[in-house]
Amino acid sequence: MPQSSATPILQIAVPTPVQGYFDYLPAPDEANLPAIGARVRVPFGRRQMVGVVIGHSEASHVPSHRLRPIVATLDAEPLLDALLLNLLTWAADYYQHPLGEVMAAALPVALRQGKPAQVQGIEYCTLTEAGRRTDPASLPRAPRQTALLRLLQDRQEALTLEQLRTQQDTDPRQSLKALVDKGLVQIDARSCLTQVDTPPAPAPALNAAQQQAVEAIVASLDGFTGHLLEGVTGSGKTEVYLQVIRQVLASGRQCLVLVPEIALTPQLLDRFRARLDIPIAVLHSGLNDSERLCAWLCARSGEAGVVIGTRSAVFAPWARPGLIIVDEEHDPSLKQQDGFRYHARDLAVMRAHREQVPVVLGSATPALESLANVARGQYRHLSLPGRAGGASAPRLKLLDVRSQFMDEGLSVPLLDRIQQHLEDDGQVLLFLNRRGYAPALICHECGWVADCHRCDARMTWHAGIRRLRCHHCGHETGVPAQCPSCSRPLVGRGQGTERVEQALRRHFPAWPVVRIDRDSTRRKGALASALEGVRSGQHRILVGTQMLAKGHDFPNVTLAAILEADQGLFSADFRAVERLAQTIVQVAGRAGRGARPGEVLIQTHHPDHPLLLTLLRAGYGAFAQAALAERREAHLPPYAALALLRAEAADAEAPRVFLEGASQALTSKNPQGVQAWGPAPAPMERKAGRYRAHLLLQADQRRDLRKALAIWLPDLPRLPGARKVRWSVDVDPVDL
Ligand code: ADP
Ligand code: ZN
Ligand code: ZN
Repeated sequence: MPQSSATPILQIAVPTPVQGYFDYLPAPDEANLPAIGARVRVPFGRRQMVGVVIGHSEASHVPSHRLRPIVATLDAEPLLDALLLNLLTWAADYYQHPLGEVMAAALPVALRQGKPAQVQGIEYCTLTEAGRRTDPASLPRAPRQTALLRLLQDRQEALTLEQLRTQQDTDPRQSLKALVDKGLVQIDARSCLTQVDTPPAPAPALNAAQQQAVEAIVASLDGFTGHLLEGVTGSGKTEVYLQVIRQVLASGRQCLVLVPEIALTPQLLDRFRARLDIPIAVLHSGLNDSERLCAWLCARSGEAGVVIGTRSAVFAPWARPGLIIVDEEHDPSLKQQDGFRYHARDLAVMRAHREQVPVVLGSATPALESLANVARGQYRHLSLPGRAGGASAPRLKLLDVRSQFMDEGLSVPLLDRIQQHLEDDGQVLLFLNRRGYAPALICHECGWVADCHRCDARMTWHAGIRRLRCHHCGHETGVPAQCPSCSRPLVGRGQGTERVEQALRRHFPAWPVVRIDRDSTRRKGALASALEGVRSGQHRILVGTQMLAKGHDFPNVTLAAILEADQGLFSADFRAVERLAQTIVQVAGRAGRGARPGEVLIQTHHPDHPLLLTLLRAGYGAFAQAALAERREAHLPPYAALALLRAEAADAEAPRVFLEGASQALTSKNPQGVQAWGPAPAPMERKAGRYRAHLLLQADQRRDLRKALAIWLPDLPRLPGARKVRWSVDVDPVDL
């Protein structure tokens, strides 16, 4: 029986790996109880931690002499409102993740650390009049000050301390202070919000399909509706978002826009800024703590009309809920892959439902889950059939490369088509999902292979920087000059983007080639300048990874090619084919966006693969229907619910032992409607020196899975072997 006590009990979510909340007493020296949703500092073991009050109660299961008072209340007003708290509590339960950690994930770092919830302003450095006129070279014996002054003069814009730091490789504070003392630079604090002074750019007249979509969404603004906005890249989805947002803003409400990766789509942000004359808050991982705090608080206060952010922005607070948009809703990066493993799209829908606002999920290639929700009548389907501006859809064609001569992954017919498009003044885009020079370095004589000693994986050869790198754990070594076992020369096997780039330069010496992948764009500003070079027509051949496939607008690309489709066709992951189809459609969307029609070529050794043929002959919609039929047959999502129990340890046996125990524990509960598969080793069993295995739970009815998890997971910490492994549960896993 819970014991009643005279003083009220505070229920507090504390960020520790324990499910549920903790009971505390109010601080003896505080007159008012902390509000629900406010942060408090609490004693926890021998430390102090920042928690969030989630409830007040009159009773506790903890004997009153063991209850400790909180140290202090940090927020005079609730930081998280009731609906957001409710969403987070629900998410902690749904994803089986400790409530305190879920709450922490929803807060910017500064607030997690207990800093005050006040806009501090971001410090910006600008040149004074004297600073603009001073020749940097005239600062003798101060090379850092010279470099800093030159940088500020070159960039001609205000830069934050953080930006200076990343540009300079050294801590700029001392040189900056010297420049301030000399009256050349001034530092002032501003808000993170970019206020646009120019009048908004005019909106184009919508075509009929866009008009219909806008009207349907606007008509639903007073309650919850899920809309799936399907339209190929270039069909005008962003235009629909913009026009709906304008109406939401006009009614005094705010919009929350989630995108998979902001860094990859700088144009999107520019477009929003040019078109909307309201302050926009941006939330993504590239921000420093104070920028993030500022954006979060501006969203919460309502000062920001639009909040654009990646994954975790789904938890951004707002003052006047209006509309949630999830762009590229099929993108796997919307799913958090470690710690609190939530899916931002799914939570966006849950949140919209709680807040009674509409949610728009946009994609050229909707996730099969979303299409199934349309079929069940849970989402309304809005489609934009054509390309806005009248460009025609590209022609897709399979290139059968069986027994063909391939030069570094490029077949002769492909090389011919590249030549033709270049001569016709088009740009050419080649997609390969593998960076580096070669995915393996081998000895042709004795068969020696450069393996990662920490993973079950090959080292990737990066020729440009002369290093071997493991793409799974980051391990790096030099390139051996010869075979360590027989001393003969080593050769690279297979192609990465670097190698294809080299081959293209050899074949087409007259046409400039640019490579766009994570290696070539590591430097700040490198991606933006590469994209600019593509748009200006300076680069004629583009080779790159997934980064190229994301929503960039390249109007002069007339030929797009996928160098290797086969990886996706025979993967252990049941979602691989869906991903491949999405990539093909996304890459195809890069071709022929301007006035000229595009051509899309797909190199494959399996030109008869039924799903691939359906995609090419009948389009993504028909592909999705066929793929959904296969999923239904196989009892896979969206017709079943999955949860994955993962375990890993330095010891090879420990994960299996723990998972065996977990499997028996599940059987002993005799859960209705739930099947367990495994334990099985992970597709790459050893990663970063740790052995990994998993147990897969599958249920036709989600409620059966949730019931089973609820009664089973509390037993796991007590299993023999639980302490010898690191384990976690992933509800609705996207990577199997
Ligand atoms: P998506 O988001 O589906 O890729 P966009 O909204 O970016 O499509 O539109 C593609 C291009 O067509 C953009 O350059 C956009 O400015 C233009 N566009 C969109 N809608 C219209 C329209 N109704 N009339 C003219 N141009 C349009
Ligand atoms: Zn050898
Ligand atoms: Zn490795």
